[in-house]
Amino acid sequence: MRILITGAAGFLGSHLCDKFIAEGHAVIGMDNFVTGNPQNIAHLAGNPLFSFIRHDVSNFIFVPRPVDAVLHFASPASPNSASPYGYLNLPIQTMKAGALGTHNTLGVARAHKARFLLASTSEIYGDPQEHPQTESYWGHVNPIGPRSVYDEAKRFAEALTMAYHRTHGIDTRIVRIFNTYGPRMHIDDGRVVPNFLKQALCGEALTVYGDGTQTRSFTYVDDLIDGIYRLLFSAYTEPVNIGNDTETSILEFAETINRLTDNRSGITFQPAKRIEGDPQRRRPDITRACEVLNWSPSTTLENGIIKTIPYFKEKLGVS
Ligand code: NAD
Ligand code: UDP
Repeated sequence: MRILITGAAGFLGSHLCDKFIAEGHAVIGMDNFVTGNPQNIAHLAGNPLFSFIRHDVSNFIFVPRPVDAVLHFASPASPNSASPYGYLNLPIQTMKAGALGTHNTLGVARAHKARFLLASTSEIYGDPQEHPQTESYWGHVNPIGPRSVYDEAKRFAEALTMAYHRTHGIDTRIVRIFNTYGPRMHIDDGRVVPNFLKQALCGEALTVYGDGTQTRSFTYVDDLIDGIYRLLFSAYTEPVNIGNDTETSILEFAETINRLTDNRSGITFQPAKRIEGDPQRRRPDITRACEVLNWSPSTTLENGIIKTIPYFKEKLGVS
């Protein structure tokens, strides 16, 4: 197959490029580098199975060759307002990538009679009042809060994907991705894994926002990519949660990072308002992924962090 992957220079997009190429598919990567990094795909230069188009997906997309599948991953993804890569500092670009970018990539899928896969997010559940979150939960989202630029763009993207599926018969997939981490995350993107690892490896105290009782369920990137690959080649058109269902509090997570990096500088607590609307609890119900895709995560949080540390050490220039 020939596959168009938007957001190819980002964290997840670059791993997807690697996976599809390793499986023998040809990949056309597309990115405008707003939060991505050309280094993430530099190793693919010269590979006959890889080509790249620098383009903003918010504008009409022309793909010079036929494609069999379109994976739409282009969007800023970090909620941290302290990071220049955070979507709170790119609010209109984020809405455009989710809305116009989804429209344009669905248009490509329609024109090429290609399969379409949307990168959606656990954020569509907002600050959830049901726990764990099943795909049938409609969510609890503030439509005008700061995070709405991301949440509502992704909710619109899901709605548009289903509209194209129902109206034009496009063969669509929706993956709801829960917090994923691993090598190639931007070290300054402000999400909790890069922040904590950077602080720990530099011997600084870890910044826990609020009291640290809020929870997340962290997925190692290889597990996620495996789930997405299975979803694309399944026949399932309803949304599927892909995430590790082991839930941990942010405080517990900070302690784990300090232990694994042997950081003695401890933890500092910072005002929770840094991330307004910070969800209190998040854990995927992955029954559907298990049943439909025969998928479940295989990497524990500790093992995943151990695999991620060398990348951060290299980026930070520490031994
Ligand atoms: P990332 O910032 O590393 O990657 C996003 C990529 O999209 C970047 O390379 C960026 O330059 C590109 N991009 C953004 N807007 C663009 C535009 N208008 N045109 C072209 N390229 C554009 O983030 P990521 O963590 O790899 O996230 C990738 C996708 O997965 C996003 O859609 C995100 O919403 C989704 N997601 C990620 C997570 C996670 O935990 N990493 C969780 C839920 C959903
Ligand atoms: N967080 C934190 N310290 C940091 C960065 C994040 O305590 O330096 C918290 C944040 O408030 C949230 C959780 O970690 O409760 C996960 O944040 P992240 O930015 O990774 O993404 P989110 O899951 O909120 O989309």
